Amino acid sequence: MYHDDGLSSGAPAAAPEVPFYAEQAGECRLFEHAFQQRLPLLLKGPTGCGKTRFVEHMAARLGRPLITVSCHDDLTAADLVGRYLIGDGNTVWNDGPLARAVRSGAICYLDEVVEARKDTTVVLHPLADDRRVLPIERTGELLQAPPGFMLVVSYNPGYQNLLKNLKPSTRQRFVALAFDYPVAEVERRIVMAESGADERLAMRLVKLASALRHLTDQDLEETVSTRLLVVAARLVVSGLPETVACRTAIVDALTDDTDTAEALNDVVLAVL
Ligand code: ADP
Repeated sequence: MYHDDGLSSGAPAAAPEVPFYAEQAGECRLFEHAFQQRLPLLLKGPTGCGKTRFVEHMAARLGRPLITVSCHDDLTAADLVGRYLIGDGNTVWNDGPLARAVRSGAICYLDEVVEARKDTTVVLHPLADDRRVLPIERTGELLQAPPGFMLVVSYNPGYQNLLKNLKPSTRQRFVALAFDYPVAEVERRIVMAESGADERLAMRLVKLASALRHLTDQDLEETVSTRLLVVAARLVVSGLPETVACRTAIVDALTDDTDTAEALNDVVLAVL
């Protein structure tokens, strides 16, 4: 799956609005420098902590189109680079999202890149080092990335699947930037901006997140993310009681286990 904001269509496009992004620790400047130096960027951090929003924000700030690919274990190199398609008796070459990004000088964001098979991520190598080229074997082309092209990948190191760790030869080509959930003050601002919650509600939810994140004895794959807090806040703003909103948006989203859900719900009831 990919999306493209259409800036590469050639039609004059209105300047895109810069999506709201609350900076955590100088990452916007780092991104700008990586872009200027034509270095690829690796974002690592738990799900829902703002990685995708950060890339959307920076792409708009730098005036670059953004092409996003959500990686999965069926993603092949051809899905990224392109393939011949047959139509009306002709075979026509069809660029994949990576080739389109290289040709148009876009920012290409590969979300959850470790999900893709290793033989798929190998196509990134010549793009991620000094060469900045994408060889397209099927057409015999060697695309040279223009200055506006940037490769950004993300992954979640929390998933303890050793097989899925990035190959060292892949990851050493990237400048790495570690993300985590924002500090309370920043997270409160995000919840308010993203949901329309007032300050007191946002503060209560951030306090709840802090309490839930400190629970170490629960066997959870993931803890409460900023995304889940925003969803809970939106449900409250639209009129649901806080306890119901937190149960559905946070507790039941985090676990299927009844005992764990009860334990998390006790925290919700204690904090709100
Ligand atoms: P990730 O890509 O890390 O899984 P997202 O970027 O999709 O997470 O963030 C999920 C949601 O959380 C966003 O849609 C946004 O509402 C909110 N969010 C998280 N961090 C930030 C931030 N720093 N600034 C603005 N919104 C944020």
